[in-house]
Amino acid sequence: MYDAVVIGGGVAGCTFSSKLSEKGFKTLLIERKEKEKSGDKICGDGIGKDVISNLKTHFNIALSGNTIVHETEGAVVYSPMLKKVHFDSKWFLVSRPLFGKDLISSAEGNGAEILDNTLCTGLLLENNKVTGVRTKTKNYRARLVVDATGPFPLIKKCLPDNKYIPKTAGIFDSAVSYREIVSLKKPIEDKSHLHIYFNLEDIPMGYFWIFPKDNNTVNVGVGNLNTKNPVDIFKKYVKKLNLEIKSVKSAGGGIIPVRRPAPSFVLDNFMLIGDSASQCSPLHGGGIGNTIKASIVASDKAVSALENDGLSLKELWGYNSEYMHQHGYRSAREELTKLFVVGLGNEKLEFLFDAGLMNSIKQKGMAKLGFSSIVPMLIKQPVLGKSVFDYGKRAKAVEEHYQSYPETPDSFEKWLKKDNELFEQAKKVYGVK
Ligand SMILES: Cc1cc2nc3c(=O)[nH]c(=O)nc-3n(C[C@H](O)[C@H](O)[C@H](O)COP(=O)(O)OP(=O)(O)OC[C@H]3O[C@@H](n4cnc5c(N)ncnc54)[C@H](O)[C@@H]3O)c2cc1C
Repeated sequence: MYDAVVIGGGVAGCTFSSKLSEKGFKTLLIERKEKEKSGDKICGDGIGKDVISNLKTHFNIALSGNTIVHETEGAVVYSPMLKKVHFDSKWFLVSRPLFGKDLISSAEGNGAEILDNTLCTGLLLENNKVTGVRTKTKNYRARLVVDATGPFPLIKKCLPDNKYIPKTAGIFDSAVSYREIVSLKKPIEDKSHLHIYFNLEDIPMGYFWIFPKDNNTVNVGVGNLNTKNPVDIFKKYVKKLNLEIKSVKSAGGGIIPVRRPAPSFVLDNFMLIGDSASQCSPLHGGGIGNTIKASIVASDKAVSALENDGLSLKELWGYNSEYMHQHGYRSAREELTKLFVVGLGNEKLEFLFDAGLMNSIKQKGMAKLGFSSIVPMLIKQPVLGKSVFDYGKRAKAVEEHYQSYPETPDSFEKWLKKDNELFEQAKKVYGVK
């Protein structure tokens, strides 16, 4: 019997296992890929400063010498008409395989048992409670099971019927993406910034990115809501932006959950962390930072739950409330922003760029669209102005709703009902089906 079995050796699974094993709990980490390739994930490879500091402070993980391959000074965001807005905030480009290696080595170094090359096929259930996991060859029993399998619902589908964790995802819940790491024939003009292109007609609520990794190597890709083939958009943008590709080092597609967080991350003896809990940003799809923040809260709660031998839904609930109060409210507001922007169209988006929207975001932060400073421009477009103010009111209501996420499971149903109402109403107003 293990104290914890963690399914998935990505960012969530490795950080969580690292903490639990460091605290002396008998931890098994099951990963379907070979250990050496666990970090080989289709990704934009961009991380913020917070990732590096949180890994160090909370998990004692220092990235090895070659993991960070490039440092940028910020990002340039392009409007549909290719107008530029600069953001100054350091981003680091990593070698994703080495990043994954750093994480899994930390878990292993702290004593977690790693079972790689092994697909977890389901859950063991007794009296409607999770008691362990299944693989093709063997079952493993545990006091706590953690689903850290990323965006695919295989494990969630095996959960007992419950009102806390949904088992399926809708069309507006996932973005499909395609990315290549390529060598260019000529050096990239501006390698000190990430380059992000918005165009709501070509890329329905998503963006095309070029992230420089050195003078000639870039991570290029596109993610969009599940409506258009990302490979077609990719080809169109490579042509449109005259990217002359010499050779392709890596290519592939991926799924990014882009909805507000799952309404609960816990059941009796069970936790979700990372993409499996929809903790990515619904706006830009970045998930490594939020996953680590979630893993900090989840591992902290798991350690005390294991110490006190109290692993019921009620006893694990603090992970839900703490994450929602500290971080989840931002993701919920970002989903609302996504729904608002999807309904705008390019012309209005261009107008908002011209009105200084991006500069306003720069001052107030990505998640909190700072509309107040663009009021003078909005007077010229009263209909858009009205919908912007309506968005502002809804965003405040969503934020307050997540700040009042219940401290215990007792009022969860009432909270969830209101959550669904807030988002269903917004979808109706913004014409999103
Ligand atoms: C194209 C793309 C670009 C992205 N770019 C960025 C970016 O630049 N910056 C950023 O912050 N985020 C980015 N993200 C999001 C980021 O990659 C995820 O949010 C992050 O990896 C989440 O970590 P995780 O541990 O939850 O999931 P993952 O990293 O996906 O790890 C899940 C692990 O579980 C394993 N697994 C799955 N099922 C099973 C099973 N049944 N049994 C055993 N093992 C299993 C998988 O092999 C995998 O190793 C991007 C995502 C995509 C798809």
